[in-house]
Amino acid sequence: MARYIGAVCRLCRRQGEKLFLKGARCNTPKCALAKRSYPPGQHGYTKAKLSNYGLQLKEKQKIKRMYGILEKQFRRLFRIAEKTKGVTGRILLQLLERRLDNVIFRLGLGVSRRQARQIVRHNFVYVNSRRVNIPSYLVKEGDIIQIKARDKVKEKLKENLEISQERIIPNWLEFNPLEWKAKVLRLPEKEDIPQQIQEQLIVELYSK
Ligand code: SF4
Repeated sequence: MARYIGAVCRLCRRQGEKLFLKGARCNTPKCALAKRSYPPGQHGYTKAKLSNYGLQLKEKQKIKRMYGILEKQFRRLFRIAEKTKGVTGRILLQLLERRLDNVIFRLGLGVSRRQARQIVRHNFVYVNSRRVNIPSYLVKEGDIIQIKARDKVKEKLKENLEISQERIIPNWLEFNPLEWKAKVLRLPEKEDIPQQIQEQLIVELYSK
């Protein structure tokens, strides 16, 4: 699956807010947005008032950038959310949170979603005793997620856990770092996501 491989700090600067794409660096004065709080590029300083459409588009870009997914995959998730019973925007957020790479990130095993994605791709993650190396895999209630890797890899993951210890593990997940095992206690809700997201803007955008 295609993914963005350019400079991630540009995405935060374009968005005008921290998207926490680089792990530990994001909370330090080295953060690119803290140093240059204007959009990248030659016309970065130009300020334009956004139309309704512009606001909707910006919110959609924010979520895609946060979760590291591209348009095609995002639209596919939106279509699933539309067909599912419930409030479309909230279901969309739930689907994004249920992605396996996001779960690894939420547990603190990856300092960023990009790194969490790599951990999944490198065959270290098992769901219900079966190896899963698809970052977009959706976990469900009751799933047991386990890390199986060489000691050297586990040392690196321990370092990640230490770096991420300020991040609170959401209470829809239960994690036992001694056993390298986590359980999905329930499906995530919008309230479990620490970032402010206006999902209704995305629903409005796609409903045109
Ligand atoms: Fe965004 Fe983190 Fe880069 Fe700051 S350091 S601009 S929060 S990715």
